[in-house]
Amino acid sequence: MLNLPPAFAEVKPPEPHDADVRAAYDGLFTSIDDGSPVDHELLSRWETVRRSVDTWTAWARLRYQQDTRDAGRVADRKRSDEVSTLTTELNAAIKMRLLDPTRRDAAAALVGEGALALWRADCAAFDPAITEALVEESRLTSEYTALLASAEIPFDGEVLDLVTIGKPAVGPDRDTRERASRARWTWFDAHRARLDANFGELVALRDGMAHALGLPDYTELGYLQMQRVDYDRNDVERFRAEVRRRVVPLAARLREEQRQSLGVDTLMSWDEAVDDPAGSPELIGGAEGLAAGGQRAFDGLDDEIAAFYRMMNERGYVDLGARPGKAGGGFCTWLADHKVPFVYCAGNGTDGDVRTLVHEFGHAFQVWSSRNIKLTDTVWPTYEGAEIHSMGLEFLAWPTMDEFFGGEADRFRRGHLVRALCFIPYGVAVDHFQHLVYERPEATPAERHAMWQEMERTYLPWRDYGDMPHASDGGFWQRQRHIFRSPFYYIDYTLAQTCALQLWARSLDDHPGTMAAYRELCTLGGTQPFQSLCASAGLTSPFAEGCLDGVVARAEEWLAR
Ligand SMILES: [Zn+2]
Repeated sequence: MLNLPPAFAEVKPPEPHDADVRAAYDGLFTSIDDGSPVDHELLSRWETVRRSVDTWTAWARLRYQQDTRDAGRVADRKRSDEVSTLTTELNAAIKMRLLDPTRRDAAAALVGEGALALWRADCAAFDPAITEALVEESRLTSEYTALLASAEIPFDGEVLDLVTIGKPAVGPDRDTRERASRARWTWFDAHRARLDANFGELVALRDGMAHALGLPDYTELGYLQMQRVDYDRNDVERFRAEVRRRVVPLAARLREEQRQSLGVDTLMSWDEAVDDPAGSPELIGGAEGLAAGGQRAFDGLDDEIAAFYRMMNERGYVDLGARPGKAGGGFCTWLADHKVPFVYCAGNGTDGDVRTLVHEFGHAFQVWSSRNIKLTDTVWPTYEGAEIHSMGLEFLAWPTMDEFFGGEADRFRRGHLVRALCFIPYGVAVDHFQHLVYERPEATPAERHAMWQEMERTYLPWRDYGDMPHASDGGFWQRQRHIFRSPFYYIDYTLAQTCALQLWARSLDDHPGTMAAYRELCTLGGTQPFQSLCASAGLTSPFAEGCLDGVVARAEEWLAR
């Protein structure tokens, strides 16, 4: 492997200063406006400044996650938001200039039509006239986040929050699960008015922004903000119809099997997370064994990914496990100047750590494979495309799961497949709900709760909350953060899962051939829009009729074996 990155400990990107950043962009604006050729030299000047800023912001955000108690890192994190806001605006001004009819052909020759389509979406979604509304939107979403983060939930003599209440809510004891679930929904019920008001303001604001931009409704703007350049709401509606026809009946059968295996009269909402009465499969060596297990697994899977995994670990670009001050969750970030990703997982020694590790390495391997793509905008695909690499690798890594779980690997594989299938109806319910909401922005809070209940009847017909406060009254959606914070970002997971399941089904027949197609897909990055990426890997687009037939039939067969 040539051009290895420096060890992570030696990476100390320079902090960007607004005046310098502005001066660099002003130089670019002047060059373009004065008629300088749209060529590699111009592109490389632009990339130099934006990559330098991106590298520092990614590094600062990562270092904050690694120790949220460090005051210096907290300050850097805040500063990274400010500088990102500045460069988003400055980059949009460059894109706008390059899309001008006098320059667009030269720009297309330089960066490809795919990039221009992304830029057009970015420019159509922004106008200085909505700047104030965007700031207000950010204030409202922060208010929602802060409200949820402030939750204090009394439970069994302790005070828990919305994260820590999650553990007893999915634990092995049914009574504890129900009580934890009740404690959580009681908190939501007590804050119903504030949550309704916050969301009502967000909907009105978003609807207003769409009209200010001359768009018919917020759904149109939401799609532009998500850079969906090769499909629209009609395609998504067709996909949801396929899910209703093909996946909802299967998920209902799987829930019935789950009810029987748990030995309960009625599967209640607090039972759904327990997909195996025998508990989760045990991770060999616990949290400490995860990194070594990953090496053994990738060694057995693919030479290129194994070498990449070794390099990442040796050079310090992986942070696994939990420690005081380290924030939860898992993600993969990208240090553009060093052309290297970083994989972050705050694991707790359970089977979920394996899924997170493999998932994030899927993202990391994609961006590593795309590291020599010249234009920042096309190094990563848009979200639905990017999740194919991560969710796809989770399935492609199946044969190596024995390295983590030994004799329990098959139980892990089964749980993974069942969860993947059952997630799809929930994911499209979240998406469909948002279409209903923005179609009728004037709806009252009670009408919105009724819309969600209609979604539950359509996509999750088994769902039973009993007399649980709030949730039994149509309020479940208020805990789905994407609905408040990242509108229309959800269908992406279900589209990617549909593609990942196709990779899984193919790999059962031809694992080496499917791995080769996967590696090839990873090199494309975001140079093509979603459906072209699917086609290039031989995947049926989720928007094609019958797209789910093959994978659902294969899953039914595998589960019945
Ligand atoms: Zn992901």
